[in-house]
Amino acid sequence: MNARKILPVAFISFILLSSSMVFSQNALTRIKQDVFVLASDSLMGRSAGTKYGDKAAKYIFSRFEENGMKPKYQSIKINSTEKNIYAVIEGSDPILKNEFIIMGAHYDHLGYKTKTKYGIIDTIVYNGADDNASGTSLVLELGRMIAKNKGDFRRSVVIIAFDSEETGLNGSTYFANSEDRYNDVIIAKNTKLMMSLDMVGWLKQSKKLTISGIGLLDNPYQYFNKLNLDGDKAIKFKDFSRSIFTGSDHLPFLYKNIPAFHVTTGIKSPYHKPEDDADLIDCEGILELTNYFYDVVKNLANAEKVETSGKNPAIKKPISSNYWGIELGGGNNQHDYKEGNMTGKKDFAYSGGVFAHISISDYFGFKLGANYNYMSAKRYETRVKYQSVSVPAILFLKLGNNTYAFSVGIGGFFDDIFDSRAKVGEDKYMNYLTQYSFGLQSEIEIRIQRFIFSFQTKKGLTNMDKDPLYDYGKTTQFTTTFKIGYIF
Ligand SMILES: [Zn+2]
Repeated sequence: MNARKILPVAFISFILLSSSMVFSQNALTRIKQDVFVLASDSLMGRSAGTKYGDKAAKYIFSRFEENGMKPKYQSIKINSTEKNIYAVIEGSDPILKNEFIIMGAHYDHLGYKTKTKYGIIDTIVYNGADDNASGTSLVLELGRMIAKNKGDFRRSVVIIAFDSEETGLNGSTYFANSEDRYNDVIIAKNTKLMMSLDMVGWLKQSKKLTISGIGLLDNPYQYFNKLNLDGDKAIKFKDFSRSIFTGSDHLPFLYKNIPAFHVTTGIKSPYHKPEDDADLIDCEGILELTNYFYDVVKNLANAEKVETSGKNPAIKKPISSNYWGIELGGGNNQHDYKEGNMTGKKDFAYSGGVFAHISISDYFGFKLGANYNYMSAKRYETRVKYQSVSVPAILFLKLGNNTYAFSVGIGGFFDDIFDSRAKVGEDKYMNYLTQYSFGLQSEIEIRIQRFIFSFQTKKGLTNMDKDPLYDYGKTTQFTTTFKIGYIF
């Protein structure tokens, strides 16, 4: 089954299957036909932008029509045949019909490979029966059922067969960003929920259906209440309101802040392998899922409101104007003597701590903090190293927004110097400095997203010397540090 030779028989079977629609079909035979036609060798793996992809699109278009929908092609690339096919089934409510529930499935797959062995050209077709002839057959049959009973659906339902999923979610990205309208209303923008049905043909084998992204809707279980699958098959819901989940056609909708679910029976099937064939597909399972989603979509289409939970892992939360973070930095510190002809020399200053910004208007805010400092100052007779905990309070003027900003601030600090030592000759002096000092602090800050780069200066106003050894008069501290901060 691995290597497949393309026989004219495949083309004949395609034509036969296509023409079998002249006979009346029931739902199961329609699903089987769609799976077997789309996953047949004659479509050569339905690679997007190829003549086989185009052939698949034409087949799907005709199935939309046969199923009572009014399909449209949506070209997704210039100079290419890549296209989505979709149909809107208009809702029965004059107001709610302007809101949409999208049920989508990609129909493209990986195409084929050729290998030459002993001079014989061998063609390997990736038929993509589970991925994703299965989902395509499901939405086609679902569309048929809804179109037949469209009076029972107050919101409009959009059935989409996406192209070019395998090459980078191009079809769904195009749709999610498109301004395609129905009755003058932009469909994508007014979509309340999208579901991507991707690989739904292995229900019997996996015994479960996984619906991911449920946490993106407000009160989501109301739509699924009392709806179950037959026998021992389970429905597994995954919240995913905090993390991005696997790549499928739901993702571009999430990026447009449209709630979107990923629906699958799992990757038990030979995922992205040539063995992903139609004869392994549980078509009865697809029918069962079609009936299930008919009820789910009906609940969604008829609810008074379908609202998002406001949680979407694809949308980065803007940093609020009140925030906190940590900062770390280094610079220099010196002790200035106010009298006499002695001056202190610069030595190191390290600092790290937490800070909080509290906005008081668009332009003004307070910064409060708590920092640990390890500093040193060179004096005439010695070098004094000390540790302190300081509490700055600064009033800021901010220009910019919550992502990029430039700020200048002025305020004060209070230092608790809990340890100080100096060396004079061989003697060590403890508690050389006063225990408390305070002064003025100024800051210039540049914020880029969550990072803050700041330049801080501290000018002490109180005498640093507890018990001056020499008469220098008032000794004050001057510290400059460069800090990098991160906002949480
Ligand atoms: Zn897929």
